[in-house]
Amino acid sequence: MSGSKCQRKDSNTRQNANSSESTAEGSARMPKRDAEFWFEDGSVILIVRDAEFHIYKGILADYSPVFQDMFSLPQPSTHGTLTAPDTCPVMHLSDSPEDLRHVLRVCMPKSDSSFGPFTQQARPSYHMISAVIRLRHKYQMQNMVTQGVDYLKRWFTTDYPAWSAGALYEPDTPLECVHAMGVINLARLVDVPALLPTALLMCCGLDEEVVKGFVCEDGSLETLSLDDIGRCITAHSRLAEHMLVLTMRIFRPEVSDDCNFPTKCYRILQAMLEGVENELENFAFSDVFVSWLEPFERHGGILFECCTECQEMLKRRDREESFAVWKKLPDIMGVHVEGWAATYELFSDSSAGAVAVLRGH
Ligand SMILES: [Zn+2]
Repeated sequence: MSGSKCQRKDSNTRQNANSSESTAEGSARMPKRDAEFWFEDGSVILIVRDAEFHIYKGILADYSPVFQDMFSLPQPSTHGTLTAPDTCPVMHLSDSPEDLRHVLRVCMPKSDSSFGPFTQQARPSYHMISAVIRLRHKYQMQNMVTQGVDYLKRWFTTDYPAWSAGALYEPDTPLECVHAMGVINLARLVDVPALLPTALLMCCGLDEEVVKGFVCEDGSLETLSLDDIGRCITAHSRLAEHMLVLTMRIFRPEVSDDCNFPTKCYRILQAMLEGVENELENFAFSDVFVSWLEPFERHGGILFECCTECQEMLKRRDREESFAVWKKLPDIMGVHVEGWAATYELFSDSSAGAVAVLRGH
């Protein structure tokens, strides 16, 4: 519900200025050595569109049984290319140079590479993760697919407290809101439905971009399937119903049983409910899981004029009511996720408000 949501939306617009250049598959452009992956003592040349990669086939074969099989087949009798005649076997791949480069950066990191493995500290871009998951799925590098998916799960999480913290709306996040469309397609590709509810939820806030898609690094257009666009349209209406109910339930003018100043707190709660119409930008946003109290907390806001007991009551309502919607999120989004929110329950923690924790912990 924070203002930063809108800032993130604005940052999503991308231009396709280089699309005509980078989608020149099949054109008659001369092949050229890849500036990043050309090892003089490489053992195979991979040709991808107009780029030639001179790399080590033993390393790729070690990562991928598909490459292992390809390399075990009889190689063409004519070796070498225009840029490297008579050197080593040549193979043509149908991928994009950008995608292959991302995968090679993981398999054969250079000494000046800034990319590390998928550690907690690493924050690879959407394009890198997308390339790694798609190509590794294609070439059966299962371990690396799992690592890429786990990285996406850190952002498109099944964890209610983590999602409601709104990390994806922070300005320095390596993923943009539009990338949720790509995440949905990746989730479908590798069959990881747990990524779908939050990714579809984020698409509900994309407005017309959800139909237009976004431009990838190689100039191609990533779009949602018509079925998933339909899910977003249906979910948008259902979320609007929940927004209305959440507003009425969280801000209902009913003070805490332990309220110290019932008359004053009642008036403040009433003012908050009436104040909703002045904060429509926040209260009409489809992601209903980031705190509803935030607009009334800003700059020593009206929330703090309530007594402590009523403030705690509001925080509890905020968490409990939105968690109740969270439990229905897959259903709202028209997808099924086994065990969604089944292992969580809410309980009240006096220091941190109501939080969701693993049952039994
Ligand atoms: Zn009170």
